[in-house]
Amino acid sequence: MAYENNVNNFTWYPWLNNQYKKIIDYYSKKQCNAMIIYNSIDNSNNLLCYAISRRLICQGKNHYKSCNVCDSCVLMSSNSYPYYYELHYFTLNTQKIRNIITSINQFSFKQVKVIYIINIEKLTYQIISTLLKIIEYPPAMTYFILSCNNISIIPMTIKSRCICWNMKIPDENYSIKWLQTNIFDKEVIIRTSLRICNGSPINALVLLRSKLWNNRYILLSQLSHALSENNMMLLLSILNTNNKLIYLLITLISDTIKMLNGVNESFLINLDAISIIKKILYKNSTCRIYQLWSNLINCWYNLNYRSNINRELLILHCLVNW
Ligand SMILES: [Zn+2]
Repeated sequence: MAYENNVNNFTWYPWLNNQYKKIIDYYSKKQCNAMIIYNSIDNSNNLLCYAISRRLICQGKNHYKSCNVCDSCVLMSSNSYPYYYELHYFTLNTQKIRNIITSINQFSFKQVKVIYIINIEKLTYQIISTLLKIIEYPPAMTYFILSCNNISIIPMTIKSRCICWNMKIPDENYSIKWLQTNIFDKEVIIRTSLRICNGSPINALVLLRSKLWNNRYILLSQLSHALSENNMMLLLSILNTNNKLIYLLITLISDTIKMLNGVNESFLINLDAISIIKKILYKNSTCRIYQLWSNLINCWYNLNYRSNINRELLILHCLVNW
């Protein structure tokens, strides 16, 4: 059973069905004014949050599906239901939240209200504090749905007042079957891309269709050549094209460390590059592999979280010390 009709104009993903049903069941059995729906891998939780909002707002009797014919559904379909508030962290401030609550308290006693806030992990401390007070004493018939990609940095004060719903990643074999309906590639390649994307089928599909995926094969080929020539500087030009190639190289070195520790090959990330992983292992001492792994992670951190960084020099430092 699918719930595509809840999310007009969006692509619905089949693995969301089960989560959707469980959350709707939860709402039907328990009082729940505020829910945080979180995962760390992609934005499919935003799609789920919207579908749940539509079901909560619907006046129909159907258990799971919103009816699409009641006044509320019709207004939602035309993006004009007055008491559905979809708020993004970058446009949100404390005054805006207070204005919404004032409006709700003045004009809408009989309608369901949904306040849906995207990426609450990016809200300022002041907004979180304001939200906290409102969630503690919410207006009547008002639901707060909060989506989040990093639950670990959400303050306990707000988590303790919400139901925290973990959107688990789909089973790997299930995701592979879904990917095979969208892209023609060998299973080992699809499984590799899925593992590189931490199990997110949406991100894996994007990766498989990207230029980065082709560049990964250039990186693998040049890495094999550099190892044969004992000249790691040959990797500089390809690594200097995209920060994400550093991440892909880190996954290869992580696999090398796993292999070094006797982990079965089937648990590696880069299943399509086993021969290169063995070559890295053969050509480098244990100490050098761990040092390289540490240098690459520092490089990745600096490239992503520091400004005014010279990428070429950082990569050069890793390669000189390989
Ligand atoms: Zn309806």
